[in-house]
Amino acid sequence: MDVDTRLAEDWVRAIAAAVEREHERLTELDSAIGDGDHGSNLRRGFAAVLAALDSTDSTDSPDSPGALLTRTGSTLISKVGGASGPLYGKAFRAIGAALPPPGQPSADAAGLGEALAAGLRAVRDLGRAAPGDKTIVDAWTPALDAYREAVAAGAGLPEATAAAAGGAERGALDTVPLEARKGRASYLGPRSVGHQDPGATSTALLFRALAEATAAREAARGGSDNL
Ligand code: ADP
Ligand code: MG
Repeated sequence: MDVDTRLAEDWVRAIAAAVEREHERLTELDSAIGDGDHGSNLRRGFAAVLAALDSTDSTDSPDSPGALLTRTGSTLISKVGGASGPLYGKAFRAIGAALPPPGQPSADAAGLGEALAAGLRAVRDLGRAAPGDKTIVDAWTPALDAYREAVAAGAGLPEATAAAAGGAERGALDTVPLEARKGRASYLGPRSVGHQDPGATSTALLFRALAEATAAREAARGGSDNL
């Protein structure tokens, strides 16, 4: 299996569904250490992403996974206020730009790993957060580490994306004891300790959505990579 336009679209749709399901929880987490808008920010953003995908009069529908994810990022930047819009927007634009252009062979598991690494670099370049600062970086970093470890051990996309989702979920849980050093939560100083970071939590949703989209695709193909 490789990363084609349909898998990219399935991923984005799975994120939108997860945000729709979990937005109240994200907002609750952001109410504890931020301003209580993380769920609604992402909900507005991914609703706009879906609207763009579904617009039937669109004559320029994306013809590659890179184009689709780049457009997703641009929509998030234009529709989501708050820190997370530009951060996730730049991340998706970087992932899109790192995937092969139309006409080139699709990315395999290693290629997607490079794109996910470009996404993390974009978050870090814009937000200047390091691991341990209680941000998106604290879920994305262990997700990427787990993904790369799986690929190095010979995993294909389904297994590698499942490993990444597990890494992101552990990373999000591990933000609980951290003191925030970036973003709104950092204004609370030590009072940010004891709460799970909302952005790290949504990053875990994003990686779980990737694993789910990939697993569904693999099941539809009858797991033929393993035959
Ligand atoms: P805002 O903080 O502007 O209200 P959101 O509530 O949508 O924006 O997003 C908050 C999340 O953004 C935080 O939980 C944190 O994970 C993430 N975040 C904030 N600043 C940074 C940063 N500099 N780098 C990475 N992630 C950040
Ligand atoms: Mg907020």
